[in-house]
Amino acid sequence: RFIAFEGGEGTGKSTQAKMLADTLAARGIDVELTREPGGTPGAEAIRGLLLDPPGEGWGARAEALLFAAARADHVARRIRPALEEGRWVVCDRFVDSSRAYQGSAGGLGDDAVRALHDIGSGGLHPDLAVLINVAPDVAATRLAARDAGRSDAIGGRDAAYHAEVAEAFRRFADADPAAFAVVEGAGTPQEVHARVLKMVEPLLRK
Ligand code: C5P
Repeated sequence: RFIAFEGGEGTGKSTQAKMLADTLAARGIDVELTREPGGTPGAEAIRGLLLDPPGEGWGARAEALLFAAARADHVARRIRPALEEGRWVVCDRFVDSSRAYQGSAGGLGDDAVRALHDIGSGGLHPDLAVLINVAPDVAATRLAARDAGRSDAIGGRDAAYHAEVAEAFRRFADADPAAFAVVEGAGTPQEVHARVLKMVEPLLRK
């Protein structure tokens, strides 16, 4: 089984991905926790290029291609092999992030991003995308509380860009409710984790 966590920055999805992987492992499930962009040496190197771009930064197309290339390596070398061996994969971000950031906020369009994903990764989709939904002010407060020196965000994006990302995620979930579990991200990590588990429970019974 393949579960992706999606949402904007400061939604707590990385914390939730880890908590879910820990809970699954405690139940005896063989699970791999991984993240995007990254998850393999090659994809982590591309992550470095994305977060700290040489020169003046990437244009929307180059950025989308780099994300697709990172995902292609991650899927081929790590995610597909794990799934084929019967392990669960919990991934912090996957293709819906590309659709929301590069496709919608970045203006490339959903069809182009999906086409890149088909070429790069054979159109692999998670069994479930968990979308953590938080109000913009909550996300902003959480981001402000992070280490001041931490630079794990692509810079140069304004509030309108991030608002469009959040809106795009909501649209995707509305359009395909079977593929998404929308989880309210307010509250303590434990409270959110309990909501996530409830959505994942049906996959445990299959
Ligand atoms: O998930 P994380 O916060 O580690 O992502 C690192 C950076 O990459 C963030 O700035 C995020 O918004 C950005 N990103 C992106 N497009 C994606 C995935 C992540 O712009 N498809």
